[in-house]
Amino acid sequence: MKVEANGHQIIELFEQFSPKNLAMEGDPGGLQIGRLNQKVKKVMTALDVLEEVVDEAVKEGVNLIIAHHPIIYRPLKTIQTDVSSGRIIAKLIQHDIAVYVAHTNLDVADGGVNDWLAQQLKLTNTKVLVPTTEDRLKKLIVFSPESHAEQVRKAMTEAGAGQAGDYSHCSFTSTGTGRFMPAEGSDPYIGSVNELEEVKETRIETILFESIEKEVIQAMLKAHPYEEVAYDVFEESRKGPKLGLGRVGTLDKKMTLNEFADFAKIQFNVPALRYVGDPAASIQKVAVLGGTGNKYMKAAKFSGADVYVTGDVDYHTAHDAAALGLCIVDPGHNIEKVMKNGTAEEMKRRCEEKGYDVEFVASSIHTDPFSFK
Ligand SMILES: [Zn+2]
Repeated sequence: MKVEANGHQIIELFEQFSPKNLAMEGDPGGLQIGRLNQKVKKVMTALDVLEEVVDEAVKEGVNLIIAHHPIIYRPLKTIQTDVSSGRIIAKLIQHDIAVYVAHTNLDVADGGVNDWLAQQLKLTNTKVLVPTTEDRLKKLIVFSPESHAEQVRKAMTEAGAGQAGDYSHCSFTSTGTGRFMPAEGSDPYIGSVNELEEVKETRIETILFESIEKEVIQAMLKAHPYEEVAYDVFEESRKGPKLGLGRVGTLDKKMTLNEFADFAKIQFNVPALRYVGDPAASIQKVAVLGGTGNKYMKAAKFSGADVYVTGDVDYHTAHDAAALGLCIVDPGHNIEKVMKNGTAEEMKRRCEEKGYDVEFVASSIHTDPFSFK
């Protein structure tokens, strides 16, 4: 049985995958246009919300666009509908299409943009290139009446709690007796005002990452029958995985830089790319970073990579890399288009698990401003 979903429910699932708090400081994101409190039947994923993309969304009957690049980057001074930038906003509002943006948080997310890029290059043993955050591990303990223990446990694990390495849905339960006396003004689920109550309760323990703490606790409170829920959250001394920008990994077999450049062109489906280095240089270890990667060139060198694959490489960074003996392949910023299918597939899977009646489509509009001749 499929159930209807609204924008909030879909974004809740999306943020379990790509939490907002992974974004770099000052990065705009989240809901930028429209509203989430409406039924959503169709979602479109897009790299850039250009006017053609909005027209496509209107034609496709889309209710929500999940985009990578912010539609509003700097504060708007005017919205004039005789120019494209204003028309985009007007059309979106007219057709009640919401735009939700996940920029650097989707780059950092485990399984996000940088992992999709690394997958395109068939890299294995991938690690984070530039750590930006370390997810903290926490322990959550909640007491529930036995009758609702399974419901509460299920709500927490479905919100992403209980992930340990390759294992999911990890929890531990024990039973005991809970005691409480409802005071005047309370509305107890069990017991009566001013009478000491004893209830068979289940203690449920699980672990969670700080990045999803809010969602897990919300889900737990929603599933719990009590007015005042007894729960504890402790910080674990064990650290969670390192998260960050870019990935570094290895190719199955060595290639020359010339061969690797051809390979990257095919894998990223670009008509041309720029490269720096000796075409005969040997390439096996590869660093890749979606977007504009000049700032992280040295991190790529220090990671031991033979080549750094990134976009918008500038003249002086290219010189500096050459001096350091680091090859560069710049297939352009637009290779981040991998996020369109990546996000659509990830969300399709998550919504299917929930039984949501929602369709995902990737925008088919090519948004690279550059042509080659
Ligand atoms: Zn980008």
